[in-house]
Amino acid sequence: MSTRQILVVEDERAIREMIAFGLRRSGFEVLEAEDSKQARASMADRRPDLLLVDWMLPDMSGLELTRLIKKDKDLRDIPVIMLTARADEQDKITGLEGGADDYVTKPFSPRELLARIQAVLRRAAPASGEAVLLAGSLTLDAAGHRVMVGEQTVSLGPTEYRLLSFFMTHAERVYSRSQLLDRVWGGNVYVEERTVDVHIRRLRKALEPFSAADFIQTVRGAGYRFSVRPV
Ligand code: CA
Repeated sequence: MSTRQILVVEDERAIREMIAFGLRRSGFEVLEAEDSKQARASMADRRPDLLLVDWMLPDMSGLELTRLIKKDKDLRDIPVIMLTARADEQDKITGLEGGADDYVTKPFSPRELLARIQAVLRRAAPASGEAVLLAGSLTLDAAGHRVMVGEQTVSLGPTEYRLLSFFMTHAERVYSRSQLLDRVWGGNVYVEERTVDVHIRRLRKALEPFSAADFIQTVRGAGYRFSVRPV
C-alpha cells in the first residue's frame, strides 16, 4: 500500500507539529494547514486520505470546514476526524452530525490518535474480494466501493458505507448498538453508543431520496435491523 497522506488542519503550531511528528514516525505522509483556507488550497492540490481538523480555527470553525467538505462531491469521501477541546457530549454529537467520522478530545495521547486514525482509515477502505450485494432496490458494489439504485449513485460517507455494507450482508437480524459498534467500528475504538444513532440517521437520510430509508428499521429496546420487507 502506498504511503497514506494526512492533512492536519490546526492553527496552534506546537500542537500541529506534535501531531505531524507522531504521524510521520508512524509512517504517514503529513500535510499541514493553519486554517481552512490553506486546507482547501492543499486539498485542491493533493487529495489526502484523511483529514484531522481542529474545531477552533481562525478563519472558520472546523465544523464549518467539515460541512463544506462533506458537501463537495469530490471531497466528501475523505474521512474527517475532528480535534476538539470540548468534551461536552452535545458538541461531539454536533461534530458528528456536521459530517465528521470521528472526534478526538484534547488532550489526547499520540497512541489514541493513531488508533482512531487507523480505525477510520480501515472503515474507509473498500472491502476487497466481495461480490456485488443486492437488497431491494439497492446494489452495493464492493469493488467499486459504490451503492447504486438503478443508475443513480447513493452518496454515502465512509462510515455509512460500512454500516450499510454490514447490514446488507446481515439482513433480517437485529443488532444492538454495542454489537454494531463492535462489528462496524471495530473493537478498539472508543466510541459511545449514541454515535451509532447519528450514523443511522445519516444513512437513512442518504437513502431517503431513493425511498430506501425504511430498510433501516429501529427495533425498540433492541437496536436496528436491515430488512427490505415493510415493518
Ligand atoms: Ca485551534
